[in-house]
Amino acid sequence: DRLLTASADGEDQAVEAALRPKLLDEFIGQERVREQLSLVLQAARKRGAAPDHVLLSGPPGLGKTTLSMIIAAELNAPIRITSGPAIQHAGDLAAILSSLTEGEVLFLDEIHRMSRPAEEMLYMAMEDFRVDVIVGKGPGATAIPLELPPFTLVGATTRAGLLPPPLRDRFGFTGHMEFYAPAELERVVHRSAGLLDVEIDPAGAAEIAGRSRGTPRIANRLLRRVRDFAQVRHDGLVSREIAARALEVYEVDARGLDRLDRAVLEALLKLFGGGPVGLSTLAVAVGEEAETVEEVAEPFLVREGLLARTPRGRIATAAAWQHLGLTPPQAPAA
Ligand code: ATP
Repeated sequence: DRLLTASADGEDQAVEAALRPKLLDEFIGQERVREQLSLVLQAARKRGAAPDHVLLSGPPGLGKTTLSMIIAAELNAPIRITSGPAIQHAGDLAAILSSLTEGEVLFLDEIHRMSRPAEEMLYMAMEDFRVDVIVGKGPGATAIPLELPPFTLVGATTRAGLLPPPLRDRFGFTGHMEFYAPAELERVVHRSAGLLDVEIDPAGAAEIAGRSRGTPRIANRLLRRVRDFAQVRHDGLVSREIAARALEVYEVDARGLDRLDRAVLEALLKLFGGGPVGLSTLAVAVGEEAETVEEVAEPFLVREGLLARTPRGRIATAAAWQHLGLTPPQAPAA
């Protein structure tokens, strides 16, 4: 079921580098963030100074890493990439900060997962381009101030709400990334197909886009699986029919639901008449852990308006009955 997760696996990482747009003009969709960012970057270039720190928030796979690389490219600056979980001690951060060159872009993915002491060091670094390196322990410890060259921090987080306000406030600009519209994902698929030398027609691209959950990373992954199918079973051309048949093999349905999503919906409809039913009962019915149902399947089902979480339990919406081609039970006559 990895096919529809928005986080990157090994194969993604290898291919993604080749598929990343390099400049802002090549970046598809996210019009608002793109325009705002373009202003920030142009102004910085005009002033000949490093731009304000940038925070990018939004679900995985929507292009935060890509945008950070674009920021560096547009500024003609080098980029250093690290992540919150990799910085467990303030010293780890001090080592990175003190080796930055002037104007360098520091991309800090999952910034909400940094340790507290590192976070506090970052406040000062962002604001004053200075850190205090603590040498020694206990009463003899001394703080040695260290000047840093001006740099631009690009922080990425899936949960902007989790960032402590003092950190959030130190970003001059926050870009909120949204799920992509199907037409935008079609453009992503066409672009990637071109780079991967895959022959695809517009209907084939639309079919893949419609099943990609609003996420370019998933669109690129589905394109690769469809390409395999088209090359092994056919002449290589990706048409609507080939895309649909390939994705059927991988159990990705027309709306982008996978096996687990459908199993949850089917249980809810067929066994519990559409609910309300408790999460743990639903999980037992599909043979999964409650956390898996809650964290893996439900977010997309809720987003798609197929399932609702209520205080009395999970309920299916009219769209869920329709999607599975089932008829809701008649309400008993009063
Ligand atoms: P994560 O938070 O999981 O690291 P991310 O938001 O940083 O994800 P990226 O790694 O930047 O996502 O993007 C994932 C893939 O999607 C990349 O291969 C990139 O090429 C592609 N992609 C993302 N956004 C766009 C876009 N706007 N246009 C074209 N391709 C895109």
